[in-house]
Amino acid sequence: MHLEHDTVQNFIFDNHPVRGEIVRLDESFQTILSQHYYPPVIRQLLAEALVAVSLLNGMSKQRGKLTLQFQGNGPLTLLSVRCTHDYHLRGVVQWNDEMATPDSLADALGQGVLLFTHEPDEKGQRYQSVVEVTGHSVAKAIEDYYVQSEQLGTRIILTVNEKHAAGLMLQQLPSEDAEAKAESWNHVLTLAETLTPDELLELDNHTLLHRLYNQEIVRVFTPHAIQFGCSCSVYRMENALIGLGKEEALEILLDRDSIEVTCEFCNHHYDFDRVDVERLFTVGGLRSDSNTKH
Ligand SMILES: [Zn+2]
Repeated sequence: MHLEHDTVQNFIFDNHPVRGEIVRLDESFQTILSQHYYPPVIRQLLAEALVAVSLLNGMSKQRGKLTLQFQGNGPLTLLSVRCTHDYHLRGVVQWNDEMATPDSLADALGQGVLLFTHEPDEKGQRYQSVVEVTGHSVAKAIEDYYVQSEQLGTRIILTVNEKHAAGLMLQQLPSEDAEAKAESWNHVLTLAETLTPDELLELDNHTLLHRLYNQEIVRVFTPHAIQFGCSCSVYRMENALIGLGKEEALEILLDRDSIEVTCEFCNHHYDFDRVDVERLFTVGGLRSDSNTKH
């Protein structure tokens, strides 16, 4: 079997009320991590959060975007990762480089919170939930969240190296028989704990599941591809310029040839010169007009 790159794979057990997911990020991870400079610990945290949001995305039944945000008063002020229903992934970290380089999430965040936000694509309610981060890792913070908010036993194992990141998630499913449910959970977890970081990064899903659960009947679903994807566009950046106002935009152009607008997430640069700006404010007036009518 070949290694599944940039994929999420769901599985369930025939004889245990437990669901699982395996995520492996390769090119998507390399693309996002190359968009900004990050010190090693922050790089590690961002990578873990990218795997985590991909794992959690599989839980939402509605089409939409899932965002995980860690906010704190330590050197790391904001870590934001987002995954769309179709597994388009992006992420960014803001940190204070004047403070000491942290060596764990707890150090990096100081007093912090984790926000889960699900925004549906069409109809439906935007869902947001906040939990205090007490754990010392991205995985622990999310495990705590599920225990606190949904009373669902959840185990997340994350591992990252220079170019790849991977994660395994196990979660309890509702079951009538509490004792059997606890026994199943213990059994499945004990086996999962024997997985080494290298195995998680290097084994294809079939081999990995066989290595852990060869005594069990595991059903795997079709894997889903994951890729980097940012929602920024020329259109959105044009709107930002329209928001700035024509006078202000032209004033910036007095001492430079173009206005550069940069996406805070993917660091993509958009350039607008005088001709663009003139055109924008002719079209721009019409555009905002037509928007307000709907
Ligand atoms: Zn972007």
